[in-house]
Amino acid sequence: AAKTLARRALLSSKSIGGIRGMASLDAYDHYGKHVFTGSVADAYLKKHGASGDILKDPTWTKTHADVVAAAVLDWAVDNGANTFCHWFQPMASLGVRHGQTGQVQNMMMEFDRSTNDIKFDFKGKDLIRGETDGSSYPNGGLRGTHCAGGYLALDTSSPIFLRGDTIFVPSALVSYYGAALDEKTPVLRANAALNKQGHRLLKHLGLDTKEHGGLVTNIGLEQEIFLIPRDEYYRRPDLQLTGRTVIGKNAPRGQEMCDHYMAPLSSATPALACMQEIQEECWKLGIPLKTRHREVAPNQFEFAPLFGSNTTQIDQNVMVMQIIEEVAPRHGLAALLQEKPFNDVNGSGKHNNWSIATADGTQLLLPKAINAATNNEYAFPIIMSAIVAAIDEHGDLMRMAISSPGNDFRLGACEAPPAIVSTYLGEDMTFYLEHFKDGKGTGEYVPGVKTLDLGVDEIMPFEVPAEDRNRTSPFPYGGARFEFRAVGSSQNVSLVNAVLNTITAEKFGEFADAMDAGKDPMDVAREALNKHWRVIFNGNNYCEEAQQMLTDRGIWRIDSGVEAIHTLSSEKNIKLFEKMGVMSKEECEARETVLHEHYTGTVEMEALCLVDMINQHIIPAVKRAESGPLAELEAAVPKIKDAVAAIHAAENAYEAAKLARVLRLETMIDIRAVCDAAEEVVPADLWTLATYKELMFLDSHVAPAIEEIYEVSKFGKKTRKEQLLIENHNVF
Ligand code: ADP
Ligand code: MG
Repeated sequence: AAKTLARRALLSSKSIGGIRGMASLDAYDHYGKHVFTGSVADAYLKKHGASGDILKDPTWTKTHADVVAAAVLDWAVDNGANTFCHWFQPMASLGVRHGQTGQVQNMMMEFDRSTNDIKFDFKGKDLIRGETDGSSYPNGGLRGTHCAGGYLALDTSSPIFLRGDTIFVPSALVSYYGAALDEKTPVLRANAALNKQGHRLLKHLGLDTKEHGGLVTNIGLEQEIFLIPRDEYYRRPDLQLTGRTVIGKNAPRGQEMCDHYMAPLSSATPALACMQEIQEECWKLGIPLKTRHREVAPNQFEFAPLFGSNTTQIDQNVMVMQIIEEVAPRHGLAALLQEKPFNDVNGSGKHNNWSIATADGTQLLLPKAINAATNNEYAFPIIMSAIVAAIDEHGDLMRMAISSPGNDFRLGACEAPPAIVSTYLGEDMTFYLEHFKDGKGTGEYVPGVKTLDLGVDEIMPFEVPAEDRNRTSPFPYGGARFEFRAVGSSQNVSLVNAVLNTITAEKFGEFADAMDAGKDPMDVAREALNKHWRVIFNGNNYCEEAQQMLTDRGIWRIDSGVEAIHTLSSEKNIKLFEKMGVMSKEECEARETVLHEHYTGTVEMEALCLVDMINQHIIPAVKRAESGPLAELEAAVPKIKDAVAAIHAAENAYEAAKLARVLRLETMIDIRAVCDAAEEVVPADLWTLATYKELMFLDSHVAPAIEEIYEVSKFGKKTRKEQLLIENHNVF
């Protein structure tokens, strides 16, 4: 009945005000149809004599692989698919261009040469494992071309999905020796560590997590993006090749009016229809992108899904990024996922909302829930103490995990928290924990509420949490979850979540060790709080005095992303990852190398784009206009080239990355100023690159009516129907 009612509501809202209703009846029916889980999987497995329940036990890959493969094939054929791939995420994959996943697509068909007959063929062995040559993927020395075997193993924690004619099997990628070559494997290992150590700790607190299906981590990933006019995007080699503008004079209008954030998603721009179509595509894959709104900067937008288990959410977020990039062109737009596409307006983040729960739903970070489940009024503060300790001790790793190249321009700037890793718990909980720590006061923590009375009869007084929210903290607590706010928009958040779970697992384990040795759980927690209290900071993280104060306290502060990446191989951190069984020394070092190489590669592309833009656009424009800083521009080019040559000559990846950082944050910024000065004086008709005004204001670009013909890159003019056809055949 609920479903029918909801449908009716959707139907009636379908075409209000001429805005195309995303949630058409069809789309509603298609929810999750292209993901092999829940009722979809259940129906197909039943046809083959099993049931959806078998998927809950990961050993199905040993016991039921053929049945599942048969059901998947059946489902595939019903949906017009005849191809499959093991789908993986190579190390350091950032969602700038193509979502950065790996896949080799194979037909699920057998061809008989003698009869020329064809038939479908897909077995358990095809489904659960694959082998690939992955030596061309970043591997940090874990694999050479002469020993290039890469093994793909199906990840039972994230469902198989279907797009167009292809089945995608989420998989881990490891070397012949089992070393992680991907983003996924460390997360799975960190989940196992958290599950194991959490079980030990919670047993002491009164809950056997094994009786509740173990522990899971839930995350919800808010995704910020820019949507810009595609024709202007083609007039910016830097955006096309690197995802950010390396030059560009500010437009006369920026964020001065604070008029973009949450402003109407007006149908007067193509953005709304684009966002609707993104939601629709995600809908089919069982990704409920529930929230959409405009963000702070002009042309900046955000989506947020309903949270869920971390590996599934990471895989889905990677798909969301890919879908965003694919759908935007159909609306005459280009989607920018990079963290800082434009100077002087807000950049984009991806808030990683993070919580721990038992598989059957008891939330560990929700005081009432965990205290009730353990029948222990101090379970919550004890768990909290462990997390506080983890943040204080391993803030360097949290900083490392968010060191994406784009975050260079975000962290510490006004829109993202600084590179100092403190946590906000709120005055209320801090007050409680302080008393708990000092042994004053008893009883459980009950989050306060207060009543807001607007003093008018028309609106009744209503309750709000006693805590305000702190958007300046990199890692604030928010009722039932922590929100890692400093994560970059283009990141694959695997490493972020591997770190969060590893550092928490370690502390849970240390607490359990002490309790195993007979120590009182309250004393263990109190000692940890005393030792790590300094990491709690409820004030304004943007305030410089506060930053100095936190620095003086000795909180982890690593301003340079390159240095933060280097902490991956510090003695402390290798010990941690090895102890928790998440990464070996070799894997840590390889990952560090990959991240440094990735950083350097990014900078090099940006530098070479800048050279091209100066030579091919700016110098000619300045010459034609007979005004502007010609000599300085001409001098800039060899400066960049020399710096790139020096990077190439560096003795290792770390040294190269350090030089790249100087090139990017010093040399290129100085040169940018010269370019922007030229832009200021060259007449508009002689300036051949798209300007910030042209890139950042969609309002002048009128939304095409949805049935209207519009242009798509090399495919020429297409109707919307033709567009979808192209997309379904993966022509893009
Ligand atoms: P904001 O933080 O911007 O106010 P929301 O409150 O809508 O946004 O939540 C943002 C994200 O946090 C959503 O993806 C939501 O599903 C997720 N979220 C909410 N509760 C939890 C939780 N307990 N664990 C993990 N993620 C959560
Ligand atoms: Mg948020």
